[in-house]
Amino acid sequence: MTTLARSCGWCGSACLDPMISHCASCGGPLPLPRAQEGALIELGPPPPPAPRALPAAFRREVLVFKNVYVIIGGLFVFVFFWTVLFALIGAPLLYLGWTRGQKRLLALSNGATVQGRITDVDRDTSVRINGRSPWRISFEYPSPGGRAEGWVYAWKRPELQPDDPTWVVFLPEDPSSACLWPPVR
Ligand SMILES: [Zn+2]
Repeated sequence: MTTLARSCGWCGSACLDPMISHCASCGGPLPLPRAQEGALIELGPPPPPAPRALPAAFRREVLVFKNVYVIIGGLFVFVFFWTVLFALIGAPLLYLGWTRGQKRLLALSNGATVQGRITDVDRDTSVRINGRSPWRISFEYPSPGGRAEGWVYAWKRPELQPDDPTWVVFLPEDPSSACLWPPVR
């Protein structure tokens, strides 16, 4: 049994006690700790039935403060507000980030639940904010239209690894809205 710290995907707290199932800081459900290095992580309990309550601070981070497209779009607006680049690049990025964030929140609060699998975990070096690149976690899951793929960004090195099983929440009418449960950040 390892006692690697788990990171809470809701508030970012490090949770050192391997026996607890919910974050001591925010109460959000935690992933199970990996039993041993090299082993697949065990699937924790499934998400509760919808609608699921999401912490307000988590909502703000998904929509704005940890939203890659909103941050980059915001920088464009801030730096290039006096040029046409603002309208050509900044505004579409803001819109893309905001709608993607809204869909992600809707999937987490109301989405259908399926079991999926992590397919890839890698740094996305095409994105750099304050000298840091986010981790891109790709996953696959069964959707009404067949096998679907999704991805999420994380700013902390993820504990998830390829082939790990995971819960996925998604909007059946828009499977591209898929998100991991519990979320990563
Ligand atoms: Zn937490």
